[in-house]
Amino acid sequence: MNAEVLRGLGAEALILAEKFVSFQGEGPWAGQRCAFIRCSLCNLKCGWCDTPETWDWNRFTRAEVSEKVAVSELAAWVRECEVDMVVFTGGEPMLQQEALAAIARALPEVRVQVETNGTRSPIPELEPVVDLFVVSPKLANSGMGYATRIKPKALEALTGTGRAAFKFVVTDPRRDLDEIAQLVDDYKLESIWVMPEGTTAGAVLEGMAALAGPATERGWNISSRLHILTGSR
Ligand code: SF4
Repeated sequence: MNAEVLRGLGAEALILAEKFVSFQGEGPWAGQRCAFIRCSLCNLKCGWCDTPETWDWNRFTRAEVSEKVAVSELAAWVRECEVDMVVFTGGEPMLQQEALAAIARALPEVRVQVETNGTRSPIPELEPVVDLFVVSPKLANSGMGYATRIKPKALEALTGTGRAAFKFVVTDPRRDLDEIAQLVDDYKLESIWVMPEGTTAGAVLEGMAALAGPATERGWNISSRLHILTGSR
């Protein structure tokens, strides 16, 4: 994917994949009702990605799975939803930071959470208007090379906000937990959450059972995937 395809539209509009109201299924604020704005575009290609429609133009036709929407329209939609939290997810929302910042500024009464793969530093316009960055650095299990998925300066910038939690997707605890521990040590990451990969309730429950003991022993938190357990979005 070239840089032109990855570029967002600035502060006026956002390339949107979908928007909906549900509850946050993962991470530190799980269970809370919120509006989701799923951004199109991603700069990675994880093998187990569950939202390939945001970036895989070999499998999806971009014009059919994304649309350009004015930031004013998205802010008005969030207000109509009567939620106190909006979650920017993706894809990779941090490819469209100007638009995220403009929407957040228009919603001063709404908490803003940004889910990111941790490869982009927040721009000055966005950083102060985000209440929580949920950062999910990708592991070797993603199939991506280290230098592509781990960007030290971005991790440092996100940690430096004091408002970042790190959430890792685990496919094999025996292998992945040591890799997470190395990243935590190398980049001084704090507020660590581990979560099983899985798209069925059975797989999520089995994964959480496998993670519970080892994660707790390491001083980390466990995240469920409530939307999958409940058959929600
Ligand atoms: S970073 Fe997220 S959206 Fe992008 S390919 Fe990986 S899992 Fe999918």
